[in-house]
Amino acid sequence: MKKVLILLSVLILLPIFVSGCGKNENELLIGTEPTFPPFEYMDEATGKIDGFDIALITEMAKRAGYEVKVSNVAFDGLIAALQSGNIDVVASGMSITDERKASILFTDPYIDAGLSIVVSKNNSSITGEKDLKGKVAGVQIGTTGADEANALKEKGILKEVKTYNTIDVAFLDLSNGAIDCIINDGPVNEAYIKKDSSKSKIVGDVLVSDQYGFGVAKGSEELVEKLNKALGEIKADGTYDKLVAKYFSN
Ligand code: GLN
Repeated sequence: MKKVLILLSVLILLPIFVSGCGKNENELLIGTEPTFPPFEYMDEATGKIDGFDIALITEMAKRAGYEVKVSNVAFDGLIAALQSGNIDVVASGMSITDERKASILFTDPYIDAGLSIVVSKNNSSITGEKDLKGKVAGVQIGTTGADEANALKEKGILKEVKTYNTIDVAFLDLSNGAIDCIINDGPVNEAYIKKDSSKSKIVGDVLVSDQYGFGVAKGSEELVEKLNKALGEIKADGTYDKLVAKYFSN
């Protein structure tokens, strides 16, 4: 009899334990591609993903009543991951574009960005967009930089566009001489150049200006509202400026 009771209680309790192991209601799964400093990068000391986007979305989520779990997702897989429910939020330096707005929601913009051109430090033939004729550009797959470079190729300006899964590899190829330039987000270019100042430099003006937003799946309008409210508070009470100072200072 005792054994039967134990068995019965295990059978009754098992589904409760199993469901308890699933996703916590108060947890937001954040997807990011962490080779994009200072917005998202692997902190080598802790082995964790850190950066301005991660700190900001963590604070926004906290104020909206959520904890976060951050996972590494390829940049060109982020929108599909949102749509399939594998992640709840994209925090990955993602520019708000009309094309993306057709498939996902964005929070209010949280920072201004835009594209710039990077060349090797010793390159004197490319001083800006006007010198890109016949050149080979490196870009990250699925990005606004890739869109811009492909448009320049279609216009007969760039000779070739080399696409990389992550932009760090494009910087390696630039230093190896495999490509003539990189078209990528300005603040990220600056971060890479600072790390490696002897090798590359930004030339010309900002190619295209844009703004980043956090991405959320369509149908989650309520989550977007909560996050926007938190973002407004974070901007108003000085927390936003502190995060900018922390992540954009060196
Ligand atoms: N801001 C660019 C875009 O949205 C690049 C983002 C990235 O590479 N993480 O396409």
